[in-house]
Amino acid sequence: MKFCGNCKKEMADDAIFCASCGASCSSAFGTPSGTTNTTMLVWAIINIIFCSKIFGIIAMVYTLLAQNATTRAEELDKLKNAKTWNIVATAAAAFAIVLSIAVVVLVCVFSGSLLGSLINSINS
Ligand SMILES: [Zn+2]
Repeated sequence: MKFCGNCKKEMADDAIFCASCGASCSSAFGTPSGTTNTTMLVWAIINIIFCSKIFGIIAMVYTLLAQNATTRAEELDKLKNAKTWNIVATAAAAFAIVLSIAVVVLVCVFSGSLLGSLINSINS
């Protein structure tokens, strides 16, 4: 099974032209799209601003490298790396948020029980 390099639709292994857009088979997995993967780029920028700067920048570099890839396979490989680093950046931020919430909850529980024992000592 292979995919059209032009419209990305699935095409038969023995197809010479894409049934959907008419592009020649040579473009399937051969030439890269030559365009920037906007989803990856936007995700990387969001990561740089809100999440992890370092991981976000790595993801952005891979996204831009994918744009200049010489083969479709190389482009897909670079985009895979970009996606991995984007996930790492977002996961790191999510972990930091969960950790800070846990700290706030712990502080609340601790100060709550402290306040409770203080009130108890006043009442008694
Ligand atoms: Zn096509």
